[in-house]
Amino acid sequence: MSIRLKIISALFHKTYITMRKVIISLLVLLATCTACTEKEVAKHVIIIGLDGWGSYSMEEAKVPFIRQCMKEGSYTLYKRTIRPSVSGPNWAAQMNGTPLESTGITNNDPTPSFKPLFLTEHNAQPTFFHLMRQQYPKAETGIICEWGDFLNYADTLCVNYFKRIFEPSKNPESIVLESSKYIKEKKPVLCFIHIDAMDHAGHSFGRGTPEYYQTFEHVDGQIKQIVDAIKEAGIYDDSVIILTSDHGHEGKSHGGDSLNEIETPFVIWGKGIQKGKIIDETMIQYDVAATVARILHLETPQSWRGVPMNVFK
Ligand SMILES: [Zn+2]
Repeated sequence: MSIRLKIISALFHKTYITMRKVIISLLVLLATCTACTEKEVAKHVIIIGLDGWGSYSMEEAKVPFIRQCMKEGSYTLYKRTIRPSVSGPNWAAQMNGTPLESTGITNNDPTPSFKPLFLTEHNAQPTFFHLMRQQYPKAETGIICEWGDFLNYADTLCVNYFKRIFEPSKNPESIVLESSKYIKEKKPVLCFIHIDAMDHAGHSFGRGTPEYYQTFEHVDGQIKQIVDAIKEAGIYDDSVIILTSDHGHEGKSHGGDSLNEIETPFVIWGKGIQKGKIIDETMIQYDVAATVARILHLETPQSWRGVPMNVFK
């Protein structure tokens, strides 16, 4: 090879090495930027939990608002409760993302049935409220509930605001008034509203009775009022709203394994959520917690077992 050719070849080699370095640097930069931009899906999550809302009820119920929300977003009528089909374990799992074999929350007792595998500094399960307090300490979080025991599973030391509505059957509109007031005043990042009326109707009159459906229709209107409050608060466009349930009924009771008791709905809509999707993946209560964590960009502890549902755009 002549000297000239050698120089040209060396130059090409040098250029190739430089180009390779530039491309590698660009790829590294691109990867880092993707990690930086991976943020929350929406700035607010409002969960409305309907105690005793079994999926069977969607065949007949005249609930135009809920049906509109189902079209607006993604939903399944096949979310499974965890056993037994009672409120405590099923509300707990939706907040703490963990099966009861680990939490020991196997019934409605305020204390676990056996030693939990993992507890926070508050001697509680690491619910999404706890993760919010740890990872976004300034974020406003709140709970408004009609079932007092709900607060046993939520770790109230981790929320800014919690309110129990006493005697909800005598004050059925309090839940809407209190929730709307809180949402408009504080514009919470994460808020859980628990409505007990349908469970009450199920126990008093029985599954699928006219009284149960009447109550459900009334609750449908209440959900609309709460969503209106989210709009009035000016946060609707940056919110994800979730409707969920703990269990259904069989006769005037629940706790068993019939599909009427263990199939519960999950409806999700709002910013970043796919519209018109029927979720056909498996969903269990603790997947609700994981989905909320994904929306708010919360890192979840190893003890969690829930997985986010595939509902994002
Ligand atoms: Zn009940």
